[in-house]
Amino acid sequence: MGSSVSEGGRSSSYPLLKGQKALVTGANSGIGRATAIGLGRMGADVVVNYVSGGEAAQDVVRQIEDLRVRSYAHEADVSQEDQVVEMVSRMVDELGTIDILVANAGLQRDAAAIDMTTSQWQKVLDVNLTGQFLCAREAAKEFLRRGVVPEVSKSAGKIICMSSVHQMIPWAGHVNYAASKGGVMMMMETLAQELAPHKIRVNAVAPGAIRTPINRSAWDSPESEAGLLRFIPYNRVGDPEDIATAVAALASDLFDYVVGATLYVDGGMTLFPGFATGG
Ligand code: NAD
Repeated sequence: MGSSVSEGGRSSSYPLLKGQKALVTGANSGIGRATAIGLGRMGADVVVNYVSGGEAAQDVVRQIEDLRVRSYAHEADVSQEDQVVEMVSRMVDELGTIDILVANAGLQRDAAAIDMTTSQWQKVLDVNLTGQFLCAREAAKEFLRRGVVPEVSKSAGKIICMSSVHQMIPWAGHVNYAASKGGVMMMMETLAQELAPHKIRVNAVAPGAIRTPINRSAWDSPESEAGLLRFIPYNRVGDPEDIATAVAALASDLFDYVVGATLYVDGGMTLFPGFATGG
């Protein structure tokens, strides 16, 4: 790529996503926020979805508009079908279409399995898995309606699912979250298989430990950060921009032949670091 998405405050000299329309869910915080700004820096117009925290969403919109691309904030709960349908429909009305969906919104409701309530279980599955499915379904309908526009992109549309290393690493105390991300993996691969013949690319990014509000207690003191680093061979906690870069790359035509893949962006967390000393 001609320009990193983590450069501050100016448009890319080589806008890989110029003229494309992107929707990022959960884009007023953490990874979604960095991704929305990163896609804007690559030349895309960006819809900033949020479910609460309208001020933070407007701040992201302002930063994207400073990059001389279009942006607006849209409040919607991704687990509510009618709200997702309305969000994508408004995007088609206002921006003309959608080229890139980043299904990022997610949350945790942690508890030991024997203490986990049905509501904790269901909430995480509703947002992390059903929410991604609803957004993917609505985006895919528009991709199919519009088809490939060669001057915009080689494909008819790109869906990037935000998964986690916990799509493959079991996680005690987080059975709802791990199950949701395992589900995201198989949903992503199945959608990729089903939609690839229509020139739609579906892929996932699986972050390791990234410094965001979702996991603040894991990194906000030197002791907890040291504990986390034991699992990260590359020996640093990730930043949201590490994920934004990966998403932008996957969404671009540079990755046109990448279909149904999970890109782990985790500093080596999935390399079983416990075995580095012989197991
Ligand atoms: P975050 O809490 O900063 O951001 C999550 C975003 O999702 C927030 O904007 C939140 O408001 C939004 N959201 C929650 N419920 C929603 C709903 N019903 N509708 C719309 N938006 C909703 O956390 P983050 O770390 O930036 O998480 C983003 C994604 O990355 C999540 O899917 C998470 O599982 C994944 N992830 C994060 C890490 C990490 O280490 N931070 C690691 C692996 C995967």
